[in-house]
Amino acid sequence: MHEFSIADAIVRATQEVVQANGGGKVERIHLRLGELRQVVPDALLFAFDILKQDTPLSEASLEWEMVPAQVRCKTCSTEYHPQDVFWECPSCQAIGAEVAAGEELEIVAITLLEGSNGD
Ligand SMILES: [Zn+2]
Repeated sequence: MHEFSIADAIVRATQEVVQANGGGKVERIHLRLGELRQVVPDALLFAFDILKQDTPLSEASLEWEMVPAQVRCKTCSTEYHPQDVFWECPSCQAIGAEVAAGEELEIVAITLLEGSNGD
């Protein structure tokens, strides 16, 4: 279940950011998650709820927006949304492409609980 390693990376990165900004308890974390990460939302939330315990994120909720996959044909540079495991270019039918978007795992915003900053 690779959601655990993703949740772990989120928890660590958030703690670092909060630490660097003077500490506090986290209320909400907002992410951008690429479609190609193939995250199962329930599994990610489950992992996050376990890993956040005993951290400044213990009361935090997790939100994310999915970034659709986008790949670029290596032959003709057409960008398209891959439909299945074979990435076949819709204009020249070449197989094989490079990823243009969809591998994101970015923290966009961290909201702290009011009054928890600084102490
Ligand atoms: Zn092509």
